[in-house]
Amino acid sequence: MKDERPPKHWPPAWPDVTDKKVLEALATVPRHLFVPPEYREDAYADIALPIGYGQTISQPYIVALMTQALRLTPESKVLEVGTGSGYQAAILAQITPHVWSIEALPELARAAQERLRGLGYSVEVKVGDGRLGWPEHAPYDGIIVTAAAAEVPPALIPQLKEGGRLVIPVGESAWDQVLWLIEKQTGGRLSAHWLADVRFVPLVAASPRLAEEEDPALNAIRQELRRVLQRHWWSPSSYEVFYR
Ligand code: SAH
Repeated sequence: MKDERPPKHWPPAWPDVTDKKVLEALATVPRHLFVPPEYREDAYADIALPIGYGQTISQPYIVALMTQALRLTPESKVLEVGTGSGYQAAILAQITPHVWSIEALPELARAAQERLRGLGYSVEVKVGDGRLGWPEHAPYDGIIVTAAAAEVPPALIPQLKEGGRLVIPVGESAWDQVLWLIEKQTGGRLSAHWLADVRFVPLVAASPRLAEEEDPALNAIRQELRRVLQRHWWSPSSYEVFYR
């Protein structure tokens, strides 16, 4: 159908988004079908837009940056936390058919699953607390979290392959969030790279503290994550990931 593709000028030229697969995905996924009808005119402006329930579809530049950081291939298995409109999931599915996505709000999950199916995207959506990941399909080559938490949910780390990448905004408030790329290296050690200063809606906690989080193994991961993020806070080497 004629208007089922983005316009020709889309996506805009972002200096630090160079991955052809990512740019091709942006050029293909019809973002106007993922926003409420009243925002369709703005679908190809590089801005976040409301999708109801106090949630937003992310700014396209950030979607592109996060997707590029995952370095996906058509064989990659990816988990998304925070399905929202399904747009980010569609971008991922444009690159690999192995995409799972978790959404906390049942209404958004249902709408996104229908939309994705209707457009022919191979994405499985479930309702749940994404902080626990989706162990049944683990390990993943990439995990992408599209809502910000005060800390990286430790349960996600064991679900990442060695060499796998986690992209996640972390921050206590809307004004001090950092988008991190966390890599699980061979042997299981973690490293962190700064990607951008961002502003995401908060990752909601279904319960204040999950029983799973008291697990001593997860507490060890929590400590390791804190140490790694602290150490890399202002490290200039962080920039090398994208600006080399
Ligand atoms: N990726 C989405 C944007 C998501 S906005 C898109 O492309 O449209 C963040 C989403 O995360 C919201 O839909 C919110 O309901 C969801 N969310 C918040 N906390 C969550 C949690 N603990 N588990 C799963 N989803 C969560």
